[in-house]
Amino acid sequence: MKHADIIIIGGGAAGFFAAITAASVKPDLSIIILEQSKEVLQKVRISGGGRCNATHACFDPKELINFYPRGAKELLGPFYSFGPSQTIEWFKNHGVSLKTETDGRMFPVTDSSETILNCFSDLTKKMGIKVFTNVKVKNYHYKQSAELKFEIITDSENYTCNQMMLATGSSPFIWNLLKTQGYHVIEPVPSLFTFNLPKHPICNLMGLSVPKAKVYIKDTKISSDGPLLITHWGLSGPAVLKASAWGAGVLAERKYEFDILVDWVPDINVPAINQLREEMAKKKVVSNPLFSIPSRLWQFITNNIITDREKNWASLSKMEMTDMINQLKSSSFSVKGKTTFKEEFVTAGGVSLEQINFRSFQSKLQPGLFLAGEVLNIDALTGGFNFQAAWTGGYLAGTEMGKKQE
Ligand SMILES: Cc1cc2nc3c(=O)[nH]c(=O)nc-3n(C[C@H](O)[C@H](O)[C@H](O)COP(=O)(O)OP(=O)(O)OC[C@H]3O[C@@H](n4cnc5c(N)ncnc54)[C@H](O)[C@@H]3O)c2cc1C
Repeated sequence: MKHADIIIIGGGAAGFFAAITAASVKPDLSIIILEQSKEVLQKVRISGGGRCNATHACFDPKELINFYPRGAKELLGPFYSFGPSQTIEWFKNHGVSLKTETDGRMFPVTDSSETILNCFSDLTKKMGIKVFTNVKVKNYHYKQSAELKFEIITDSENYTCNQMMLATGSSPFIWNLLKTQGYHVIEPVPSLFTFNLPKHPICNLMGLSVPKAKVYIKDTKISSDGPLLITHWGLSGPAVLKASAWGAGVLAERKYEFDILVDWVPDINVPAINQLREEMAKKKVVSNPLFSIPSRLWQFITNNIITDREKNWASLSKMEMTDMINQLKSSSFSVKGKTTFKEEFVTAGGVSLEQINFRSFQSKLQPGLFLAGEVLNIDALTGGFNFQAAWTGGYLAGTEMGKKQE
């Protein structure tokens, strides 16, 4: 049986950040990370297309929490303690400079996730943190009153420790184990996916993107706006990914078969469309797109409405004009299935948040046990927010674990 002051289960973003933080607070602590795979930090490595979108340039916690469909309320306080500003500063102090892209996403200036992997690897070595790979944690026993609170059962050796952290990401095995320990786990479902429109003619416009559209999921209150991309299998882009995140639960219940409405011109109302019609009265409808609608999309929309390609705006019938407005403001699509967004995906669901004290990411059920990252029912939109939640939780948990051992 091996022993350490702190044992962290899961060698991912939250686990490494917690271990390094605890070791900074109290350098002589014995800390072990147990990782089931043969390599640690695999998601960090592949994240952001190999560049690691580590955080987002959003510095007001009240604004930042709007990017979290689950966990917003609970993360507000933690973000005041350790948010994107502190993350940028932390990485800078440890030799990793981050840069901001025009959409606010932040990456290492090297454009390589390896920079972050190397940073964590150097720090763990320097700080004497032991990392054991190919060790799968199968169970743990908890004794509240004992000095040695935890006994950890793995598929090889067993361990004891005073404080333990679960940073196991989206692991069904660990969620099932936690249920047996009395935790409430919200059923996990995928988030951040794109919508399939099998054989829909709009897919012929693959590659086309609209700078701002609004997507409504019918029979729900879910809507989202932003750039929308047409792919060879359906619809993608930030507007769709956002809708998938906010609707993760309800869309899973509907087995990913649902109807959506797309507003191609969300900033323009119906009177403005009618007004423009008058201004363009003598111009041909087909060759004079309204607003900034890309011409291939305009052809697609008008094909559905007018057969006479020579018609000008003034000669559109009342019915054709109504159709036009419907197509522009609420094109209807039946979604059948989803496709994983390869750049970034997460799981919605996990350990219920009321069982966690968010000042330190400590369990209320089993004090001495810390949980952070995707194991919790916290997830965000794409853009660096998911890692931010992992760094924030890891930092606050690590700080508390370090302090407790002082
Ligand atoms: C392809 C992809 C790209 C992404 N890109 C981005 C991005 O650019 N920006 C962003 O913000 N987010 C991104 N994400 C999301 C981000 O990777 C996660 O939110 C983040 O990694 C969560 O960190 P974590 O520490 O909670 O879990 P993880 O990083 O998943 O780490 C958990 C670790 O625990 C280990 N483990 C699990 N069970 C056990 C066990 N029983 N015993 C021992 N070890 C165990 C796992 O093997 C794993 O190594 C991406 C996700 C994917 C899949």
